[in-house]
Order: sequence, then structure tokens, then C-alpha cells
Amino acid sequence: MNINVYGGTAKGCESLCNSCRFSLCVQGFADSQEMVFCGGVPGAQVPVIIKWPVARCNMHIGNDFISKDQLEKSAVILDGTHNRVTGFKTD
Ligand code: SF4
Repeated sequence: MNINVYGGTAKGCESLCNSCRFSLCVQGFADSQEMVFCGGVPGAQVPVIIKWPVARCNMHIGNDFISKDQLEKSAVILDGTHNRVTGFKTD
């Protein structure tokens, strides 16, 4: 008889830290040789060592996250002062 415990211990999942922009993940040649440092803990002066795979974290921000400031810096400002036609070219 199988008993399913919902919300129980997750197995076989990758730690959230591996995809977090706050993390430094260092891995050796053996599976047991792994250290994870978190630089996202509020108020911490130095990175905190994470000792287990993280299933949930409310500070996680993915490596592919682009902030509003980054978007604004890379945006092209179209002010309309040049006499160029903006938009898509139609044939
Ligand atoms: S913020 Fe959370 S998910 Fe990101 S590195 Fe720190 S502990 Fe891991």
C-alpha cells in the first residue's frame, strides 16, 4: 500500500540556489563536494553558507531576471526628433 504525503520532502529536485543570482555554487569532482554561498540574506555582511538543497526561498531571483533599471539602460529612446520612420518595414 502506497501512502502519498502532499507537501512532504521533495526528492530528486534541483536546488533553487543553482538558478539564483545571489548564489555562488562551487562543486568538486564528487557529488558530496559542493558548497553553496548565498549573498541574498538581508543584513548579512558576508555570504551565508547554505547546507542543504533549497526547495523554496522567498529571496530567490532567477539568473535570467532582468530588472527595470537594466531594461531602462538598454532601451532605445525614440524621441521622434530625427526624420526617420519608426515601426516595422512593410514591402
Ligand atoms: S536567495 Fe535563496 S535561493 Fe537564492 S542563493 Fe540564497 S538561499 Fe539560495
